[in-house]
Amino acid sequence: MPVLVMKFGGTSVANLDRIARAAKRIAVEVSRGYDVIVIVSAMSGKTNELVGWVNETSNLYDAREYDAVVSSGENVTAGLMALRLQQMDVPARSWQGWQVPLKTTSAHGSARIEEIPTDNMMAKFGEGMRVAVVAGFQGVSPEGRITTLGRGGSDTTAVAFAAAFDAERCDIYTDVDGVYTTDPRIESKARKLDKIAFEEMLELASLGAKVLQTRSVELAMRYDVKLRVLSSFEDEMSDQAGTLVCGEDEIVENNVVSGVAYSRDEAKMTLVSVADRPGIAATIFGTLSDAGVLVDMIVQNISEEGRTDMTFSCPTDQVARAEKAMFEAKEAGSLNYAEMIADTDVAKISVVGIGMRSHTGVAAKMFDCLSREGINIKVITTSEIKISVLVDRKYMELAVQALHDAFELDKAA
Ligand code: ADP
Ligand code: ASP
Ligand code: MG
Repeated sequence: MPVLVMKFGGTSVANLDRIARAAKRIAVEVSRGYDVIVIVSAMSGKTNELVGWVNETSNLYDAREYDAVVSSGENVTAGLMALRLQQMDVPARSWQGWQVPLKTTSAHGSARIEEIPTDNMMAKFGEGMRVAVVAGFQGVSPEGRITTLGRGGSDTTAVAFAAAFDAERCDIYTDVDGVYTTDPRIESKARKLDKIAFEEMLELASLGAKVLQTRSVELAMRYDVKLRVLSSFEDEMSDQAGTLVCGEDEIVENNVVSGVAYSRDEAKMTLVSVADRPGIAATIFGTLSDAGVLVDMIVQNISEEGRTDMTFSCPTDQVARAEKAMFEAKEAGSLNYAEMIADTDVAKISVVGIGMRSHTGVAAKMFDCLSREGINIKVITTSEIKISVLVDRKYMELAVQALHDAFELDKAA
């Protein structure tokens, strides 16, 4: 029988009523003749609570125990969903990551999926199981310990299952009815897109649009998974619902800019007065990379008397790690700087669109729009299909709304 993957996020399984609602949708797909692999998240708020408990218990926590704790939210929903489906006479079973087994690397807290053997689950489908309810976000390391895939990781579990089982489609059910031109919670004029190209979705996700985890888009692109984002709150079940994430060639008309993303979890770090000589950037960014700091934007300021300031951005929760790495390099004598300044009150705003490859003037329009709002730009980076700026966090919403207006994203191409 054809396989369908359906993923339900936290708000879609937030309580027993919502689980029952999701179960009804699953039953409809079963009645259409699919064997269904359901991926569930923890009930909304649960993972945050578990992370909070870990942090409260131990500030230098052991990542293996972090995973043991935070993966547990998904186990509850998987079991409850299987029970609900059984209640409706749908043959269903829950699967925790280790039972599949969903094999990952041992990078606890942000493990990558290495392999999903299909034989165990296929055998159960062969014996009459119609729905496999899989706890998302979790796997098992080569050492046999439970791992997690990073926040929002159930999306990636879903796409990985769709690829492994050659599913007809991977439906991501969430609390919005598709991918919008920007977060509809920030800009009420945001417009739902019927289709979005993998590359654009990848940029939007990695620049902060949390509707899909970045890694899930990467996997869908690599394995050509038909990926759809849709609402679990709407009763209508049409094949046209939601947003299809697809190849560029499937999109006929496109705006030059297709979306605006924001990330509030950015920090701007400045190393004041480092020597301006060959090899210094290699030392700084090599050290940061070895320390596992994900550097995004980089600016080297004008040099005076052989010394310069080096500015970079990284996720807020990696500031302490970056400071420690820089301090240790200074102590060891491999780096010399006067001061390190961390500005954690910034946000990153990005405009994304594959149309930028063939259109000029997008950057000028973006900067002009921000200047008219009196918003100062602190750092800029560009790539082929995106432009990102760092601004004071207090301007984040205003910047998103102003850019959405300036690029007329409320209107279709
Ligand atoms: P789930 O719990 O179902 O995984 P998430 O909270 O992770 O849901 O992701 C859905 C949220 O993503 C939406 O509620 C919305 O606020 C946010 N979001 C950010 N950018 C976008 C966008 N461009 N389109 C749609 N939703 C977006
Ligand atoms: N429950 C996990 C989280 O909140 C994984 C997910 O929902 O995708 O990050
Ligand atoms: Mg999510």
